Amino acid sequence: MKDIDMCACTFCGKPQKAAKKLIASPKGDAFICDDCVRICADIIKEEAAKVKVFKDLVIPSPKEIKKSLDAFVIGQEQAKKVLSVAVFNHYKRINYNEHNKRNKQKKDDKALELEKSNVLMIGPTGSGKTLLVKTLAKILDVPFACADATTLTEAGYVGEDVENVLLKLIQNADYDIERAERGIIYIDEIDKISRKSENRSLTRDVGGEGVQQALLKIIESTVASVPPQGGRKHPHQEMLQIDTTNILFICGGAFVGLDDIIYKRLSTSAIGFNANVKNSEEKAKVDYSKDVQPDDLIKFGLIPEFVGRLQVITGLDNLDEKALKRILVEPRNSIVKQYKQLFKIDGFDLEFEDEALEYIAQRAIKLKTGARGVRTIMESRMLELMFDLPDPNVYGKLIITKGFIENGEEPILVKKEEEGAKAV
Ligand code: ADP
Repeated sequence: MKDIDMCACTFCGKPQKAAKKLIASPKGDAFICDDCVRICADIIKEEAAKVKVFKDLVIPSPKEIKKSLDAFVIGQEQAKKVLSVAVFNHYKRINYNEHNKRNKQKKDDKALELEKSNVLMIGPTGSGKTLLVKTLAKILDVPFACADATTLTEAGYVGEDVENVLLKLIQNADYDIERAERGIIYIDEIDKISRKSENRSLTRDVGGEGVQQALLKIIESTVASVPPQGGRKHPHQEMLQIDTTNILFICGGAFVGLDDIIYKRLSTSAIGFNANVKNSEEKAKVDYSKDVQPDDLIKFGLIPEFVGRLQVITGLDNLDEKALKRILVEPRNSIVKQYKQLFKIDGFDLEFEDEALEYIAQRAIKLKTGARGVRTIMESRMLELMFDLPDPNVYGKLIITKGFIENGEEPILVKKEEEGAKAV
């Protein structure tokens, strides 16, 4: 190492004596003075402020996404496939567009801008629409917000402003706007804001077309101003600005009656006259992923511009008894697994007889609320058991029977010393 008194700043040449501080490199072959350190720090700060550092999202392949969905969502194979590809493409697009934007700054070339495709899911209540979107957001580690279209209104009407959905997303991203700008928004019950043709000319259609228009604005690219506390906008309130270009919107609804519209169209084009839509078996064959046309949705009551923004459409099946039984047991955080864990904390092994699970599934089918029904049935029964727990010092195992679920009979209680002999 050189004698520091003889050294000068490698950058500006200032001799050591003239500098307040001269810092040597680890090898001792270069030096930098305090003034040059400060100048360098300013340059770095300025650059950082100029260029927002864009980090590519790590996107799993559609197959990997689907596999992760399988751990949480039972059945709905087609919807899982369609969503995996749609989400994969969406984030690939974002990465591609961001790269081009940065290259354009350098080269000024005209690269192709890939447009986003939002998704429409058509399926009965409790079939897993919300669960699918929530799980997708978890897999991709992006913020997620969910809103019920029926609670939304046009700005100025009593109800929730459309911008509040964006606020929810920002809040779920811990106010990191950049992260929120790449999040996913799920809008449920989109079929309930179809325009009501009968009253259009008389009054403003507060709940229908107006909300579609308001939603359209945020689904298309816009920079929205969102009041940070939610609620109404005030003239002097400071707003959060959020660009919705890269937010993926997924809409869902049951669309009761859409199958009639599709079936009518299909049968009219096939046999040349308006077929009588009575055959529910044939209607059940309507495959929303393939058969639905934009015109069907417009006939249903969505405005054409809105339909135009939902480029990917997929259907979810009604969950049958077998699927409902699997839902009780198989998902990573299934209800049965959760109850087992809850009882374990109290010192009990909890088991379910197969017939008990079958019975719950059969009852849920009758309730017509999809997988929501299985939870309701299970919870109402288990609540009673948890209220009146047996003595954990005496009993080690509880077996839930069909009789317990159906008629509230006592579950089978296995004493601790009998456990080995009576294990099921
Ligand atoms: P939807 O949005 O279609 O009305 P949800 O996704 O809210 O239905 O479903 C309600 C609950 O039912 C979910 O939280 C989940 O526990 C369960 N569920 C629904 N569908 C499925 C499914 N296909 N696989 C696993 N669980 C499901």
